[in-house]
Amino acid sequence: MDKTGTIYLVGAGPGDPDLLTLRAARLLESAGLVVHDGLVSQAILDLAPASAQFVSVAKKRARHTLPQEEINLLLVREALKGRDVVRLKGGDPLIFGRGGEEAELARAYGVPVEIVPGISAANGAAAAAQIALTHRDASSIVSFVAGQCKGLSDQNWSGLAGKGRTLVIYMGVKTAPHIAEKLMADGLAPEVPVAVVENAALPDMRVVRGMLAGLPDLVIDNAIKSPALIVIGDVAARNDLKIEQVAVEAAQ
Ligand code: SAH
Repeated sequence: MDKTGTIYLVGAGPGDPDLLTLRAARLLESAGLVVHDGLVSQAILDLAPASAQFVSVAKKRARHTLPQEEINLLLVREALKGRDVVRLKGGDPLIFGRGGEEAELARAYGVPVEIVPGISAANGAAAAAQIALTHRDASSIVSFVAGQCKGLSDQNWSGLAGKGRTLVIYMGVKTAPHIAEKLMADGLAPEVPVAVVENAALPDMRVVRGMLAGLPDLVIDNAIKSPALIVIGDVAARNDLKIEQVAVEAAQ
């Protein structure tokens, strides 16, 4: 039998090829088989040789997505045939990326796995929108949560948001009204600043800002679509300050 191939779980970052790690770019450039999610942009896929085989396992906003178990098995099957597999995922493979499950199955079959980190949407959005996730004067804690998991209302988010804290919500566009309600029921003030970053670090990025109580309207009125992140906390309003204001503050 052929030698077992390696599965590379590779983070593709938020979409701009310039935000790939060198390791990710090099693996792509020599890839023979690329298994990718719908969120991975064409500009990134174009780094792989035209002769490579591309398998899309999840089309953005489409109904035809391969169940996770089948993706796991597909990767393992190909590796057992002796092929190296570049499994490309949006952002970082280990943040809401199900990379853990893919790595677990690979290990169970004795298939070597290498994980290449990527810039997660939170980091990409923070940089592109110039929102500091932590800030000496505003926040010393940052948490990442999924806004779309099963049993959203049963999840305990208390303590994750509020004064001195930043909450970043992935997959929260559809559930924005529940999220606002849930956080206010946990005692968060309705006027806590929020920012929504759509298509972060991509040419069509939009950033909209408001207050927690107005989050559902902010999403609806601006017709925000996935992929988007919701940032909740004082840091979300900070770069709204005018440059002159900052200069005055600094001089005081
Ligand atoms: N592994 C990915 C997250 C996958 S979950 C990562 O580390 O970034 C998918 C969610 O990520 C989307 O629903 C959205 O909330 C967020 N996301 C991914 N790309 C994004 C982008 N370019 N702009 C804003 N949010 C993004």
